[in-house]
Amino acid sequence: MFTSRSVVEAYQDCPRLRYNNYHLLGKGVVGVSKSVPLVTGSAVHRGVEHLLNRVRIGQEPDIETAVHLAVEQYVKDVEGVGFSGKNLQTDKQQWFTFNEQKALVEGLVRAWYIVELPRLVERYKVLAVERDIEPIVISYDYNILFQAKVDAEFQEIATGDYVNYSLKTTKQWSERNEESYKSDLQGVTEIWAMEEDAKRENNRLDEMLALVNKLYEGDNSKYAQFTTVKAYLAKRKQDKKISAIRFCYLVKGIRKTPDYYSQDPEALMITYSPLIRGYKNFTPGGVSYAHSWFYPNPNNKSGKSILGKGWEPFNVWEAMGVKEWMEMLPQLQPECGDIIKSQVVTPVEYFRSEAEIKEAIAEIKVLELRLSRGLFNIESKNSCDNPEAEEFRILTDYFPHNRKHCYFHFGYKCSYLPLCWQPEVAADPIGSGLYQIREAHHEAERNS
Ligand code: SF4
Repeated sequence: MFTSRSVVEAYQDCPRLRYNNYHLLGKGVVGVSKSVPLVTGSAVHRGVEHLLNRVRIGQEPDIETAVHLAVEQYVKDVEGVGFSGKNLQTDKQQWFTFNEQKALVEGLVRAWYIVELPRLVERYKVLAVERDIEPIVISYDYNILFQAKVDAEFQEIATGDYVNYSLKTTKQWSERNEESYKSDLQGVTEIWAMEEDAKRENNRLDEMLALVNKLYEGDNSKYAQFTTVKAYLAKRKQDKKISAIRFCYLVKGIRKTPDYYSQDPEALMITYSPLIRGYKNFTPGGVSYAHSWFYPNPNNKSGKSILGKGWEPFNVWEAMGVKEWMEMLPQLQPECGDIIKSQVVTPVEYFRSEAEIKEAIAEIKVLELRLSRGLFNIESKNSCDNPEAEEFRILTDYFPHNRKHCYFHFGYKCSYLPLCWQPEVAADPIGSGLYQIREAHHEAERNS
């Protein structure tokens, strides 16, 4: 059985969600229509992956190609299936969100390129990007394999320390994010997985060295080759310790209907990001632009003012394009500070804690072993007198519903609501047209 940090976290959200997502019908099922945050986030990753890979191979990062690749992935993911979720039922809203999120993908990739890339290049060497590590055996019982993929692997130029990189998108940056990233399971599992991978590689090199020694067996005619091979193998061995994880959060902005249309059921949901939504004011002297409705004003009791009369919002992608708008941003409302920089948050690195890693991995092993037994029992249900009752018993035991998250799953409705609570959908999830078989994210599982 394959597991990973996401699989473990899915269980922690809701055991039944994990079953639906990763095990139902053998591979798990996912919604046919896409969730806005997931699609936008993964397209941004595609653009950043390209930029980091260019740095890794010593080539000039090419932002236009990165934007093209990110948008291309976004369009591929969404076209034809549309979005799922709150207030996304109408064609008008679907079309608006499609274009809006496409612009946001571009804005976030450009913001990362402007703000974060120079900081990374100055401080780190890029060793690998989106590397799928060979799965690690966490239990030979049921052959449980842990899969991991790190957004990027760095080595600090000044100290030689190894650092993992994790890029995330978030609707807003708050104190809550600040607290939660420190207890994120990712910090723990990715450090552990990278080090286990390095240890495994060292063991392989030791085995090769032993073989080379055996082949040499004091034969002086082979001495030169022997020393060259031995030196090469010794050089490849690394005592790899990951010292920290650097997180980078790209702020997407809150999606909501404008406050002044809150009573209008037809009102469009809009994402409030200064990268894609601006304000303009037509004056006799020409058009003025702004990115923020509120701006700091120490002369006001509240400490801020609003743009006020004459200003109206506009969608950047309809008016001029994201690139042109982002070139204008540094000149607008300087009293608000660096608006592009404020969309790219890099909190203090998460530094390793041996005790935390040991405990988290021990807990994962116990959990995965227990669930593997449950899954094995489901597979063997047909040998029972009443397979249906047996499946029901096992699911309620190992994968119970967590109703608390049905209508509040990371701020959205859970995509498995029909599957969990509509018997006709549960009877045939694929036939319902709402779900399809999950495509594995990790290479080993895809090829298994
Ligand atoms: S609908 Fe509720 S019970 Fe079902 S998977 Fe989602 S959160 Fe869990």
